[in-house]
Amino acid sequence: VNHQDQDSLMAYQWLTKFYHHILEHAKESKHAKDYLYNRGLNDEMIERFQIGFSPEVQELTPQFLEKKGFNLQQMVQSGLLMRNDHNKVYDRFRGRIIFPIRNHLGKTVGFGGRALGDDEPKYLNSSESSLFQKGKMLFNFDLARSAIKKEKQAILFEGYMDVISAFQVGIENGVATLGTSITDTQASLLKRYVDTVVICYDGDHAGREASYQAAQRLKKAGCDVRIGILPTQLDPDAYIKEYGAKRFKHEVIEASSTYPAFTMFYFKGKYNLQVEADQMAYIDQITNELATVERAIDREHYARELANQFNLSIENIVEEIDKKRSQNH
Ligand code: ATP
Ligand code: MN
Ligand code: MN
Ligand code: MN
Repeated sequence: VNHQDQDSLMAYQWLTKFYHHILEHAKESKHAKDYLYNRGLNDEMIERFQIGFSPEVQELTPQFLEKKGFNLQQMVQSGLLMRNDHNKVYDRFRGRIIFPIRNHLGKTVGFGGRALGDDEPKYLNSSESSLFQKGKMLFNFDLARSAIKKEKQAILFEGYMDVISAFQVGIENGVATLGTSITDTQASLLKRYVDTVVICYDGDHAGREASYQAAQRLKKAGCDVRIGILPTQLDPDAYIKEYGAKRFKHEVIEASSTYPAFTMFYFKGKYNLQVEADQMAYIDQITNELATVERAIDREHYARELANQFNLSIENIVEEIDKKRSQNH
């Protein structure tokens, strides 16, 4: 770690405390605190995740860093602060809820800043730097690690709020990719600690597409993948609020689909199965997927399902899958 990174790292630790302190103690933060309470977060989670608030008064953050002995020009260069047209240094997160993003050692290396209302953009993240490389880390990996090891299972979410809401109800093995699709690096990181990864992305179209992408990456890294499916209008945070933790555990996590079952569901949305040509394309697609399934009995299980669905003989389907398998090898 070079000198500049060392300084940034230190500044991130101070700012984490600063923002958290403001949320906890400044009366100007009451609306921010109420926002979090209204979303159902409790004080324990605010503390545990060191959630904060960036003051509306723009000068406060630079003043704080200056008092701590940091060089403001350097803070601008490393992306912790911004400089406006009038050459004034300011905090780009002002007026936002702050979610510290910690590395595997528990040190803050970036922030996610959420607007309180419907302001756009909803989230602002710290810019990428040598310290903060979104594609190489997972949100909450440091806190989740022991639960992940113990349960030999990790849950992969999209957002901060999903991880924190789940954590609050005792599901502590959740991590998040922060809105981007999972990279090979992140998949390998998980593979080092778990057998199974349950993908639990938002129920909307984007979430479903991202689930398929993530499933493939994780499979490639050697993970056993499962996919939790939510109603289209909900994300995990909203689901837990609507239906409670128990139902989330049972009906989403424990009832999560295996990879082949998920692909059968996913591709149904891509084809019009009333149309014969689409049926053929669907069967072709699913047999491709089933050709990647390791265990023969698993292949048979889903082959039977496919056979029943289209009134075909299982022998023909198994033969097709085996043919594709030998082509893959
Ligand atoms: P909330 O519940 O607060 O509305 P969310 O986590 O459900 O937030 P999503 O829109 O589902 O928000 O996005 C998932 C994640 O993607 C966020 O937690 C955040 O990390 C990231 N993200 C979303 N919008 C942006 C953005 N405009 N810029 C950068 N990252 C974003
Ligand atoms: Mn505190
Ligand atoms: Mn969401
Ligand atoms: Mn949400």
